[in-house]
Amino acid sequence: SFVNQLGDERIAPAALVPSLLRLSAHSGVTLPLDLFEGRRNTAGLDPTSADMATSLQAAWITADLATPPETAVDDIGQIVDTLAAAQRGWNALAVEARADILDRAADALERDLPLWCALIVREGHRTWADAIPEVREAADFCRYYAQQAREWMATRTLRSITGERNTWRLRGRGVWACISPWNFPLAIFAGQVVAALVTGNTVAAKPAEQTPGVAARFIALLHDCGVPRDVLIGVYGAGDTGAALVAHPQIAGVAFTGSTAVAKVIARTLAGKDGPIVPLIAETGGINAMIVDATALLEQVVDAVVQSTFRSAGQRCSALRLLCVQEDMADGLLEMLRGAIGLLRVGAPSDLASDLGPVIDAEALAKLQQQIAQLEQQARLIARAELPADLANGIAPVAFEIDAIEHAGEEIFGPVLQVVRWRGEIEPVVERINALGYGLTLGVQTRIDQRASQIADSAHAGNVYINRNMIGAVVGVQPFGGEGLSGTGPKAGGPLYLTRFCSESTLSINT
Ligand code: NAD
Repeated sequence: SFVNQLGDERIAPAALVPSLLRLSAHSGVTLPLDLFEGRRNTAGLDPTSADMATSLQAAWITADLATPPETAVDDIGQIVDTLAAAQRGWNALAVEARADILDRAADALERDLPLWCALIVREGHRTWADAIPEVREAADFCRYYAQQAREWMATRTLRSITGERNTWRLRGRGVWACISPWNFPLAIFAGQVVAALVTGNTVAAKPAEQTPGVAARFIALLHDCGVPRDVLIGVYGAGDTGAALVAHPQIAGVAFTGSTAVAKVIARTLAGKDGPIVPLIAETGGINAMIVDATALLEQVVDAVVQSTFRSAGQRCSALRLLCVQEDMADGLLEMLRGAIGLLRVGAPSDLASDLGPVIDAEALAKLQQQIAQLEQQARLIARAELPADLANGIAPVAFEIDAIEHAGEEIFGPVLQVVRWRGEIEPVVERINALGYGLTLGVQTRIDQRASQIADSAHAGNVYINRNMIGAVVGVQPFGGEGLSGTGPKAGGPLYLTRFCSESTLSINT
């Protein structure tokens, strides 16, 4: 643990500790370790602490990751029929029974935390310091949605005229298709699935083709905790499998997290289907900006930028992509950033000394290399970290300076930062960021309170973070989700999320 400038004792995520220490030494300042793990109770969860390191090591050796067989597209009809037949009974259960299952699942995740971390590191190539909060987040989703369901799914009696009784309640809609990405192989998959289940829906759960093993293990855990086998069925395969699932006529709703392009394909499929209008919850990508003005604290900015851009090798939808720096302080900030990037350590995800691991697979690497090659042509290199030669799918964290916000291009889903200078009024800067069309996260670094609230008011962004990093939204504390090209709006881990999985029913009785 460390003592920050305010004298608070906080635990720093271990993967960043080496770079933070090196950065502190480099810049000659004590960094405020104002990290998101410090805000939640992570006591005993520091991967470098002796006890935790021993447990993780033991789990790493024994963790057995079985890959489920791919689902034949021809079998999807039968799977959805089975789920449809089971939905009425599941929906009729008291919400308490479904919520209790989620609480048991959270207990099981917490009990076997090192095992789940090992599975995530093995299959998702995430670092230990990423895996620990991911397991926590999955457990948080289970507990939070259990609690929210108990509250929201109770029947409410409404104002009635004499001789009439009116009630209102939420109910499951039917069979949901839950389709998730690989970058949080447990937490995003779990969050969608348990939200759909606890609200009385049955679920066809399709994880990303890169990470089916973690997902299959979580499905088995839910079955062990009491979810009937015909209420939750895994569907394994690539995009064509997901497309076949979405196209099935009995699908009553789709929860999708992934790229904007695929979300649009799914929306078109749903719109073209005969039969009922099917809701889509889409949580997609972003070109997330951080606006820094000349009053910001340099050390705080560098710390926030390094974490927000490079943590998880930049493979977070919330990650910082575009740093917008006021001209007056740009040179000083870039100088410090150069030092910080040069100190980042890329390595095997299972190595506690790695600040960041590789990207998910060779396909992702090839796409990133192409995007970086384009930046090398069109932008000015600021800094690039070193890359060990023997790391499969490793990529060096890198930053480029570009001339205009509009040049930011498409989402680059890796450890790549683009920096742009601004001068003059702040409002046009916000407008130009808004005009990119995304709206997921936005960072603001300023010591002028009025400017911070002005930006927050005019920004089109689902999650605005002021004077801190912009990743690691905590369930129930920072409901997460974007607008525009970044999604249809519902906030995972927020008070209204469950309502999106439900139909509303009003009953009026003439007494
Ligand atoms: P992706 O869109 O390629 O795939 C996501 C899922 O969709 C996978 O399970 C995939 O098999 C499936 N899929 C692909 N084509 C399909 C189709 N035609 N029909 C139905 N399903 C289909 O995304 P990815 O590469 O796995 O994940 C990275 C993207 O996810 C990034 O853009 C990132 O920003 C975004 N993301 C967003 C959030 C968020 O909460 N907003 C969170 C994590 C990741």
